[in-house]
This record gives sequence, C-alpha cells and structure tokens, in this order.
Amino acid sequence: MIRLFDSHAHLGAKEFALDYDKVVAQSLAAGVMHIANCSDSLESFTPTLDIKAKYPNVCLSCLGIHPEFVGMGPKYIDRAIKEMVKNIDKIDAIGEVGLDYHYTQSLRQRAEERDLFTKMCELAKKYSKPLIVHSRDADEDTFAILKKSGVEKVDLHCYSGNTALAKEYLASGMDVRFGVGGIITFKTGTKSREVASQLPLDRIMLETDSPSLAPNPLRGTRNEPKNLIYIVKVLSDLRFEDLDKVASQTYDSAERFYGIGD
Ligand SMILES: [Zn+2]
Repeated sequence: MIRLFDSHAHLGAKEFALDYDKVVAQSLAAGVMHIANCSDSLESFTPTLDIKAKYPNVCLSCLGIHPEFVGMGPKYIDRAIKEMVKNIDKIDAIGEVGLDYHYTQSLRQRAEERDLFTKMCELAKKYSKPLIVHSRDADEDTFAILKKSGVEKVDLHCYSGNTALAKEYLASGMDVRFGVGGIITFKTGTKSREVASQLPLDRIMLETDSPSLAPNPLRGTRNEPKNLIYIVKVLSDLRFEDLDKVASQTYDSAERFYGIGD
C-alpha cells in the first residue's frame, strides 16, 4: 500500500476540535502514516501537543508564532517563547513562522514581523530544531533572515517562489525542503506546477495545510490529511513519474527532515 507523509497540517485548529480522532483514523486508512501538526498561536500549542501525546507514532508537533499574530504584542510573544522552551523536548520543529507582507502595508508592522521571525529562527538554531516557514510576498527578506540565522533544516511550506529562487536555496547550504500542496491542483496553480515539476524529488515534502487549501475536486471544503492522495496524483502526472516513486521519495524526504524513521 502507498505510504504518504503530511508534512504540514493544523489538527490542533478549532475546526478539528470535535473529531480529530476520526480524522487521524481516516488518514491512516488512506495511507497517510505521519501528520506534522503546526501551531500558529499560543492558544494552539496545547491542542497540538495533546494530539501528539495521544498519537505519538503518527502525529508530530511543531510550535511557533505565525506572523499574523505579531499584533498580539511583545508580552504575548514572550509568553509564547517561554512555552516553546518549556516544551522543547516534546516538539519536532519550530513552526509555522515567517513573514507575510500580503496584507501588511505598514512598514512598522513588517519590521515587527521580521523581529518575531528572527526570534523564532534563533530558537530553532539554539535547540537544533527544523524550521517550518511561511513566506508570502516576502521572498527576499525571508531568504536574508534564514541565511543570517544559520538554521540548518528549513521547510518552505507551500512554496510560492520561482525556480530561480529555489535554486538559490538549494545552493545556500541549508538543508531545504519545498512544501507542495493543494495549489498544484488548482486551475490558477500554473506557476506552482511548473516549479514542482522541476524541483529534485528528495527536496519535496507533500502537505495539505489542513483545514485550509483543500485540493481539487474538494476545493472549498474542510481539508484533511487523507486528501494528500489528490496532490500526489497531480504531482506524479506533471512530473511523468510513477505514483509509488513520488510517494516513497517524498515520504523519505519528510522522514529525514523531521529526523524520524531509520
Ligand atoms: Zn499552515
């Protein structure tokens, strides 16, 4: 049977509060053997850790503050960092963190985002954890901060850059991964499909970003890890590669990234 690894989901989100047990069971039945759950806010730390405690062989936990929450202020961020450090032995990565300039026009707020992202990078470096990065309309600053930070393992979740930037990352010395998800199944996903067809397979990790970004033909519904099958099918078609090969190489890529398996 096909084995898949969902390298980025949010089963700790409120959308799954009532039925994540069922969601995990259905994912396993669909061949999704591992789910890396990311948090975005202090409030999501506890459910993310609880789900890993309940499913230690399936679910991973990643803690981090998403740039969207930068407005919560310095006290909130300090509290979050303390919680992350307190739980550092229980977490598999720092994430999801990064820069999102899409809705942030204020230069001051963009600077605050960079500050927060730098702090998250410092934690990853200090505790030798992989880093799960969200970057939107901020390619240059994201790359500069990552390079300066010296963080080794970097996942560019839902990678939206072009092939030239991907090559820069590959040449940068970082152990980088490119997250490929539902966007490659969208009509509007031409650029993402082109990039995904050219990246080395051992640097790709599949992801759903559940509950967001449900792939076609399920677009608009609550996304779940079991839907990874739609993404791997499109990826193998556009690369003219065997489905089993794409599944197993991206699975191995994620295992190596998260430091699990043999
Ligand atoms: Zn996410």
